[in-house]
Amino acid sequence: NPSEKNILITGGAGFIGSHVIRLFVNKYPNYKIFNLDALTYAGNLENIKDIENAPNYHFLKADITDAKTIKTLFQKHQFDSVIHLAAESHVDRSISNPKIFVDTNVTGTLNLMEAALETWRGNFENKLFYHISTDEVYGTLGETGLFTETTSYAPNSPYSASKAASNHFVRAYGETYKLPYVISNCSNNYGPNQFPEKLIPLFINNIIENKDLPVYGDGKYTRDWLYVLDHAKAIDLIFHKGKNKSTYNVGGFNEWQNIDLIKLLCEIMDEKLNRSKGDSEALITFIKDRPGHDKRYAIDASKINEELGWEPSVTFEQGLLKTVDWYLQNPAWIEAVVSGNYQDYYKKQY
Ligand code: NAD
Repeated sequence: NPSEKNILITGGAGFIGSHVIRLFVNKYPNYKIFNLDALTYAGNLENIKDIENAPNYHFLKADITDAKTIKTLFQKHQFDSVIHLAAESHVDRSISNPKIFVDTNVTGTLNLMEAALETWRGNFENKLFYHISTDEVYGTLGETGLFTETTSYAPNSPYSASKAASNHFVRAYGETYKLPYVISNCSNNYGPNQFPEKLIPLFINNIIENKDLPVYGDGKYTRDWLYVLDHAKAIDLIFHKGKNKSTYNVGGFNEWQNIDLIKLLCEIMDEKLNRSKGDSEALITFIKDRPGHDKRYAIDASKINEELGWEPSVTFEQGLLKTVDWYLQNPAWIEAVVSGNYQDYYKKQY
């Protein structure tokens, strides 16, 4: 019965994964949802505390680089679908430590597909391997143009190279071993529960604490931003309606130069914190550029829009306000996730 599923979601204690888990657990009581996560610095079970006792939710602490354990879990629970989000996800960390990105993002993905093939034994009915990836696989754009599903890959950072490699392996497993798969490449996400090393939560947190706002280079880098819940909804649609062997690009049609985004955020924060206009902006400091920094990313999301009817449900201003409110209301979460290790890492970076 396809309305009863055993779904393995990896990385469900992380930022995007936690929103996907919550959506699936609440929306599909007939599905058994297994959240597999190694709980690295980026994974935090606090993110999904509200659903941890739901009868259709199960947590498995495991590392996807551990092939043997992954196979054992597959055999034991007989997952019929995988939504694979677990990854090392931070570009700056990939510059200082690229190898772990190959281990988790490439080898980890292979381990999951191997376990799926071994368990499914050529019976692919109602089976799916859904690989979540990023628009960064396409490299960088000039002033104009958009990434489409057919844009050539040209990753520039060890992070994006590892994601591009994993996308290629998923495609190759589809062609070689007939593994049913879909891939989606999404633009920059923002929203509640994002680890405060990424731009928006980092800056919200720094403004609260009156710390410098470190802006790379000239601040003219352009990114396309999507509210995390809209990504989760896109994942739900692609999982259920996406065509086998397809790639979908997901984006907000919402391009911002970093500096403009930061100024908007500063304005919102001044108001929320009852500070004088310009107080937050005064914290901006320009720092040395990141090596291999991509100038501009922008997604053409017309395929998912036309084929599956998806579009973002909130505007950037609405999403940003919700995000700021969430961080202001959850100082304990920030304190809990920003451990001693993170403090050391942060000091080395900036
Ligand atoms: P995140 O860093 O917040 O979470 C990653 C999760 O994976 C964490 O819970 C972590 O504990 C877990 N994990 C890491 N290594 C693991 C391992 N070896 N075994 C098991 N679990 C492990 O990342 P995120 O921002 O939520 O991103 C999720 C996925 O979406 C990633 O694949 C990322 O490449 C992709 N993506 C992210 C964005 C974005 O803007 N954040 C955009 C597009 C695509």
